[in-house]
Amino acid sequence: MVTIISHPLVQHKLSLLRARETASADFRRLCREISVLLGYEVLRDLPLAPVAIDTPLEPMMAPQLAGKKLCFVSVLRAGAGILEGMLDLVPSARVAHVGLYRDPATHQPVQYYFKAPDDLAERLCVVVDPMLATGHSAVAAVSLLKNAGAQRLKFVSLIAAPEGLATFEAAHPDVPVFTAAVDRALDSHAYIRPGLGDAGDRYFGTK
Ligand code: URA
Repeated sequence: MVTIISHPLVQHKLSLLRARETASADFRRLCREISVLLGYEVLRDLPLAPVAIDTPLEPMMAPQLAGKKLCFVSVLRAGAGILEGMLDLVPSARVAHVGLYRDPATHQPVQYYFKAPDDLAERLCVVVDPMLATGHSAVAAVSLLKNAGAQRLKFVSLIAAPEGLATFEAAHPDVPVFTAAVDRALDSHAYIRPGLGDAGDRYFGTK
């Protein structure tokens, strides 16, 4: 269940993001812009319900988002880059944070933080992490959310590796993945090639 968002604006901005010479300030802006475009696709099946309003000319039943709505889940730290754009689209959404770092030796995720609203079961949880590399962090984040009650989830990345997609789908076949690109492969350091490098470092200007 992978949807590749091939809109030309997304692909153009992703190419700018990938380029080595793109500095952090532009990287941040592009992440935000792409995330708005991804969010538009990811959220296209949100339920609507008619609500009575008055236009300046007459009353009408107008569609508005229905129900308890959304929780965006940012996988720290690089998820911040996608979270901002998603919140531009749905400012009233709740936000959860999952802190996972990748053990440099094993490449396995280690949890150091988890904070989520207590009504996850009633919300669509949109998990955001720009790089779906080995898939281990994505699997762990979604498992934590399911253990905390989440029932409806979607996963959003900018770039996915085929290996990560396979691992994620095997663990969570019920969670659809949205991404702007599926790249060639992981390298021996579990970086996505050609990829864009370290998304967190590029976003925050660290090394
Ligand atoms: N995380 C990143 O930031 N980049 C990769 O290529 C893989 C994981």
